[in-house]
Amino acid sequence: MRMYDIIHKKRDGGTLTREEIRFFVEGYTNGQIPDYQVSALLMAIFLNKMDRRETVDLTEAVMHSGDTVDLSSIAGIKVDKHSTGGVGDKTTILLGPMVAACGVPVAKMSGRGLGHTGGTLDKLESISGLMVEVSSDDFIRQVNEVGLAVIGQSKNIAPADKKLYGLRDVTATVDNVSLIAASVMSKKLAAGSDAIVLDVKVGSGAFVKTVDGAIELGQIMVDIGDGMGREVIAVVTGMDQPLGYAIGNALEVKEAIATLRGEGPQDLRELCLRLGGMMVYLGGKAKSPEEGSELVLDALRSGAAYEKLKAFVAAQHGEVSQIDAPETLPGARIIEPVLSVRGGHIAHIQSDEVGISATILGAGRETLDSVIDHGAGIVLVKKVGDAVKQGEVLAYLHTNSDARLEEARERLLGAYQIQEEDVTVPKLIHAVVSKDGVVRY
Ligand code: URA
Repeated sequence: MRMYDIIHKKRDGGTLTREEIRFFVEGYTNGQIPDYQVSALLMAIFLNKMDRRETVDLTEAVMHSGDTVDLSSIAGIKVDKHSTGGVGDKTTILLGPMVAACGVPVAKMSGRGLGHTGGTLDKLESISGLMVEVSSDDFIRQVNEVGLAVIGQSKNIAPADKKLYGLRDVTATVDNVSLIAASVMSKKLAAGSDAIVLDVKVGSGAFVKTVDGAIELGQIMVDIGDGMGREVIAVVTGMDQPLGYAIGNALEVKEAIATLRGEGPQDLRELCLRLGGMMVYLGGKAKSPEEGSELVLDALRSGAAYEKLKAFVAAQHGEVSQIDAPETLPGARIIEPVLSVRGGHIAHIQSDEVGISATILGAGRETLDSVIDHGAGIVLVKKVGDAVKQGEVLAYLHTNSDARLEEARERLLGAYQIQEEDVTVPKLIHAVVSKDGVVRY
């Protein structure tokens, strides 16, 4: 088999066989096929698309490019959750404890932030001492004992995806549904859970810009999971503004703690109740997602989810007292208001620009080896639909270095779109896709 022939076939609109797909994924992973040939193939796939069967074969090939995790020694139905990437998305920190408190084991591998999106591991490391590098034996023991563990993804999970993703990022081939579906599902399937709830983000701050495109992506991922014996539900949610008010590591942990105490923002709480309800349903502890949401709400109200967060933090060597006293989490020396230059109504908040502004303040990495300032970030005051007067505070910038404060302020101001007319608050949940079909809201 020759890579040249595979590129040629896809360039001319052909359908690749399972063997051809395996050949290029294996060859690329072990370094035998160079970047320039895979770049050409990615562009041919982008332009001529892959059908369902090719997408499933690509997912399987990428999944088997490295280790697969065996969670069979954990009792119960293990449910995972994945978001296609957002700003202010701290749901894992809440959902893990909420779902585990309902008796569904959560064995979660998470990532770090890069660019404008944050990563759960960086957020959790705001808690003093908390360890995310845990041996697989300890990981499994912890899930059996506490019901919840969140650790860093092992380096050898879907290594082909790491290489392919890097190449897609620089060849303008990220936003293709087959390539996104194979990337997400290969990692999730390799991570070993029995069922998966996917949060497919749609909007200006997401890879997929239209609800129809996000539904199509959800359908492909549900099909892939089904074909491999895993139940998958995809929830299409809006990313036309950040989730909640806090963006930045310790700030997001504080908001997650407040939400577990019943004080958090409405959009974050609503999303967690919906996603959590689905996780509890797929975990076999509820007869429907709606009943699952009620159980999750009970766990929130009774304080069981809050206690579960503390048990999880203790098990991963974190300083539990910081959960009861979130003001002791890392903070910022400089807190500066950003004032609105005009009056009106907030029409839109460009999420990726808010994420970049937080990164400039020190909350994210601009290069792979940047050091994060856990106390840095942004707290929004105004969100879409709110009225604002000229000179009123839109948001607060939090940082420990004033070196790039003005750049961050400009970026954040530019993210806000303000208009005179009233604005209706955008929908948070657009659709739910499962093997039973699509429900639009
Ligand atoms: N998230 C992923 O893991 N992969 C993609 O291709 C897009 C979002």
